[in-house]
Amino acid sequence: MSFRLFDAPLREPSQFVGFAGNQIDRQSENRADDAVEKALADQTARLMLMHGGRLYLKLDDGKFDPWFKADKSQAFEVSLDHGVLLGFSDSGPVLAVPAGIEPEKLPETIKAIDYRSVYMQGLIDEAAAGALAQGAALLAWHASHAFCSKCGNRSEMRAGGYRRHCPACGTDHFPRTDPVAIMLTVTREKCLLGRGKHFAPGMYSALAGFIEPGETIEAAVRRETLEEAGIRLGRVVYHASQPWPFPYSLMIGCFGEPLNEDIQADLNELEDCRWFFRDEVRTMLDRQHAGGLITPPKGAIAHHLIRAWVDSE
Ligand SMILES: [Zn+2]
Repeated sequence: MSFRLFDAPLREPSQFVGFAGNQIDRQSENRADDAVEKALADQTARLMLMHGGRLYLKLDDGKFDPWFKADKSQAFEVSLDHGVLLGFSDSGPVLAVPAGIEPEKLPETIKAIDYRSVYMQGLIDEAAAGALAQGAALLAWHASHAFCSKCGNRSEMRAGGYRRHCPACGTDHFPRTDPVAIMLTVTREKCLLGRGKHFAPGMYSALAGFIEPGETIEAAVRRETLEEAGIRLGRVVYHASQPWPFPYSLMIGCFGEPLNEDIQADLNELEDCRWFFRDEVRTMLDRQHAGGLITPPKGAIAHHLIRAWVDSE
């Protein structure tokens, strides 16, 4: 069961996934406590405005523009004190700021669109989508970590938004990234795909699950595949990763080689799980499956795992 994927990789596979095009220079070594204040005073600063999982976009001549100037953003009831400095682009500082105005009160020319639709519909360029992933994750973390988890007192944002400090007990808290393993079990001939209960009609995808404390990526891949499908894995190899701001995950995509074939699907987690032969999967990727089955869209890391395997021979 030899499976060779890495014969001639021209680019890192991670560069092809959605949310991966972030070009911001983070300058993480230079994050002072007044970094946000200084950045907002810079006339060249560009802001992304976010509210309840939605990104505000200017609609201009059929095109969406996610960038606002600080002085023009007041109309959206922005909370500049809760803004985070993402870093610097060629044109100046880049920030993400929570906006207070309700979407239904926005003018005609501004749309509030949920992050998933922004990415699925390709409404903004890859660099902006990367900035969205960074800003959305940071703002979501601050929104749910206002209080110190050690002593319960209110904590304060520091370091441009990359730390929270508790003045009562002195503890520093740092933004979290939650690792999720997503894995495609493959042989030369077939791969294992499952259908979650909440999936779009006809969609099958790679299995996935959170990596737990004390686990290697490979151990998590083997555990999740065994729990969800009853398939034991031998070799596991890493393929690509994807920032996933729902709310602050990192998807870690792997391939696994099965040691058994008989599937025992966990029907609490999955509606269906089965083997698919390569030709059928190709029709699913190309949206030409006779039964209307599909794989996840191009921005999803699952799409790239599946595509890489289909194209590997
Ligand atoms: Zn504390």
